[in-house]
Amino acid sequence: MPSLLDNDAFLEYLKSRILCDVSLREKRVAITFDDGPNPNCTVRLMDLLDDKGIAATFFVVGRFVRRFPEIVTDAANRGHEIGNHTDHHIPLSILPDFVVRREIDAVGRLVREATGTQPRFLRPPMGWFNGRVLSIARGLGYVSVIGSVHPQDSKRPGTDAICERVLRRIEPGAIVILHDGGWWAGVDRNQTLEATDRITDTLLDEGYQFDTLSKLVNRNKAGVGEVGKTEVLTFERSGIVEPLLKGLLPAM
Ligand SMILES: [Zn+2]
Repeated sequence: MPSLLDNDAFLEYLKSRILCDVSLREKRVAITFDDGPNPNCTVRLMDLLDDKGIAATFFVVGRFVRRFPEIVTDAANRGHEIGNHTDHHIPLSILPDFVVRREIDAVGRLVREATGTQPRFLRPPMGWFNGRVLSIARGLGYVSVIGSVHPQDSKRPGTDAICERVLRRIEPGAIVILHDGGWWAGVDRNQTLEATDRITDTLLDEGYQFDTLSKLVNRNKAGVGEVGKTEVLTFERSGIVEPLLKGLLPAM
């Protein structure tokens, strides 16, 4: 089933409200990995990326950072960026304000403890957000981000499908959403590992370079400024957007 992110009109609508990609002419993209740190996948993934000199961004879940903080420290030491994917991976828009703050703040604290650095980006779990959630995140100092290329690798559609879906939609400034973790620490992410290997080889051959999300965004400051300033009240008012977003990102 195609993702809503494959729908250009919908992507344009989202872009004014949450960071989806960066407007760039250079062949640069960011690859991001959600739902870790994961003991079976994240370190192997980092070894693979390091061999190619690629820096990625890892959106970590607090309950796994508590169990595997050394992986997060390792990732930061290797030059990867760490983003906030909340403490318990619950859709933020169904939670009251104080719980939303707690879900975000807890991970900020854990990442600071593991890396010495405050995360800059928040990826709302399962793509669920509304204007209230984005306002709270902004108040806590975060830029909220989804992405523009979403191959639904967490559903394990096969390595070929993951590669094809990414390579079909990649373009300069794209933000690719992949998964190094899942609901449980033993989740199998071998398809994502293999696909990442092949995708990065292909893109390097095509002249693409890989940035952390911060670096990619800093190449076009104007674009992100617009995202930060946009008033997202329309989200609160439109009953249709959240049900649509429900299908946007898989649970894990
Ligand atoms: Zn997730």
